[in-house]
Amino acid sequence: MLHDAHNHLHDAWLAPHLATIAADLERLPVAGAVVNGTCETDWPEVTALAAAHAWVRPSYGLHPWDVGNATPAWRAALVRTLDANPRGAVGEIGLDRWILERARPDDPRLAGLRRAPLAEQTEAFVWQLSLAAERNLPATLHCLEAWGALMETLRATPRPARGFLLHAYGGPAEMVAEFAALGAYFSFNGGFLAARHAAKRAVFAAIPGDRLLVETDAPAMALPADLETHTLPALADGTRVNHPGNLAAAYVGLAAIRRVPLAELTAQVARNFARLFG
Ligand SMILES: [Zn+2]
Repeated sequence: MLHDAHNHLHDAWLAPHLATIAADLERLPVAGAVVNGTCETDWPEVTALAAAHAWVRPSYGLHPWDVGNATPAWRAALVRTLDANPRGAVGEIGLDRWILERARPDDPRLAGLRRAPLAEQTEAFVWQLSLAAERNLPATLHCLEAWGALMETLRATPRPARGFLLHAYGGPAEMVAEFAALGAYFSFNGGFLAARHAAKRAVFAAIPGDRLLVETDAPAMALPADLETHTLPALADGTRVNHPGNLAAAYVGLAAIRRVPLAELTAQVARNFARLFG
């Protein structure tokens, strides 16, 4: 029984293949998958998926990439969405300095988005994290190249008593203990099995076992092609599309990194998933 702590199953890149993908996941079997909305317009799509599949755990949030384009009514819409969906979690929310300082001006994933400055991202993040804390809902956090700012914000903001997820954790090893003390879980992404991510694999070798989760971030973060168990056609521009069924390969890779039997890791992750998202 596998658990995908973070994906975007409702994403347009997966839509043409959704029936096949759902059947593939049920065959693995995937017992739980947190499907993360990122902006007001995709929240209803997440709700529809949760209605169709018992293993979908819906999650609703305004992603830092989408903060700059939100309507003035986004906060009221999020509250309404969570009220209407008692199984709803909060996410994907967070902080991203990479889009401000390093992303290419013509990155196709950021086309049409106003890149909100960090202060504006922080305001949206703090408001959503506080909402999750108030309702004790699991929150899923995105962070790219803003680890110091994230730590500062977490220290100063109410956090859900049940904990929160740092998805595809790519921060320094030195920060793991304090993040964990603040309530963090850390999800390992199969994309970290690429040769260039040795440092991230070393971090995941040492993360406390009771704070460990596994994720795909599908359709993003494709695995190295030779490790993929499930493939989907690439986009017209050649961008690879990650099938969420590659979750199984992420488990296998993480078990090897931590030198534990796959069955032991699978059971540990199931317990952790139930504690945070159950
Ligand atoms: Zn994501």
